Amino acid sequence: MKALQYRTIGAAPEVVTVPDPEPGPGQVLLKVTAAGVCHSDIAVMSWPADSFPYPLPLTLGHEGVGTVVALGAGATGVREGDAVAVYGPWGCGRCAKCAEGKENYCLRADELGIRPPGLGAPGAIAEYLLVDDPRHLVPLDGLDPVAAVPLNDAGLTPYHAIKRALPKLVPGSTAVVIGTGGLGHTAIQLLRALSPARVVALDVSEDKLRLAREVGAHETVLSDDAAPAVVRGLTGGLGAQAVFDFVGAAPTVAVAAAVAGVEAEVSLVGIGGGTLPVGFGVLPFEVSVSAPYWGTRGELQEVLALARAGAVSVHTETFSLDEAPRAYERLHAGTVNGRAVILP
Ligand code: NAD
Ligand code: ZN
Ligand code: ZN
Repeated sequence: MKALQYRTIGAAPEVVTVPDPEPGPGQVLLKVTAAGVCHSDIAVMSWPADSFPYPLPLTLGHEGVGTVVALGAGATGVREGDAVAVYGPWGCGRCAKCAEGKENYCLRADELGIRPPGLGAPGAIAEYLLVDDPRHLVPLDGLDPVAAVPLNDAGLTPYHAIKRALPKLVPGSTAVVIGTGGLGHTAIQLLRALSPARVVALDVSEDKLRLAREVGAHETVLSDDAAPAVVRGLTGGLGAQAVFDFVGAAPTVAVAAAVAGVEAEVSLVGIGGGTLPVGFGVLPFEVSVSAPYWGTRGELQEVLALARAGAVSVHTETFSLDEAPRAYERLHAGTVNGRAVILP
């Protein structure tokens, strides 16, 4: 089959032919119908050889949907022909966190060498995808594959962060979204669907800010040196009740800190390497800062339900598998508006 692989540290990913995978005991084989392209892959491909954590070559893609085409011995719960989304942050299935459906926070994944597809295990930007256990599969139940696939991460990750902050997002509150790309423009829709908060969106690109307004941001602000003062001005000087940073670089983390109000939830979702000092008097009283990772299996079901209800609709641009390297170039250049989706 064809697959998009990261093969050499520092080089661009390549479309290659690899053996067709076959399901072992307990596994499920999917024919991939759509796979999403996430900025985290660009971060992964920037890591140096001496600290690169995954075996190479690595088939990319941690957002996948597909059709079940074969089941390994003992795999039950899905049938050939089922259209499914893949819950990506695989865990052991047995520890205390996994028991709660929080496989994203599995306590034993590192020790057992369990890795998500595309982030250690072979990923979804390929004609076929092996899934280690049927419990990772969530029925699409009528959702279109292209519409559904970004929800596995660009939907689930902001959903998890937003859900934690909902008690703060009462009527009259403000939520700030920094970086309105794949995750951020979905976050705006989730905030509008789940809370009465006023949504203020920041980006460096006018195209992204236009998309932010189209999907429901009440206010958009160019992310420059003046942004903190503009955002504070929009909140009457008090600051926001929740801030979601989908860039996570030093300058955006500084903006996140500068626009947080008393008791705000600050969620650093982007993995841009920025850090935020916390201490008495450094931030307004009782600000909570977190760096969440992905979301739970139950939350993925909730996000898919929201999409079925029409409350969230990811803006997508599609590419063939042969065009997949170009999708990564475009994402790196900041010219994908919404989420790039590969159709293998
Ligand atoms: P993306 O490229 O689609 O979106 C990033 C957006 O940030 C773009 O619109 C870009 O114009 C904007 N941006 C860049 N610099 C900015 C600045 N200084 N101020 C404001 N906006 C700026 O990326 P994505 O796929 O949505 O991923 C977003 C981030 O989230 C990445 O860092 C990714 O690695 C991370 N991520 C984290 C998790 C997690 O579990 N924590 C999961 C998925 C992605
Ligand atoms: Zn991702
Ligand atoms: Zn576990």
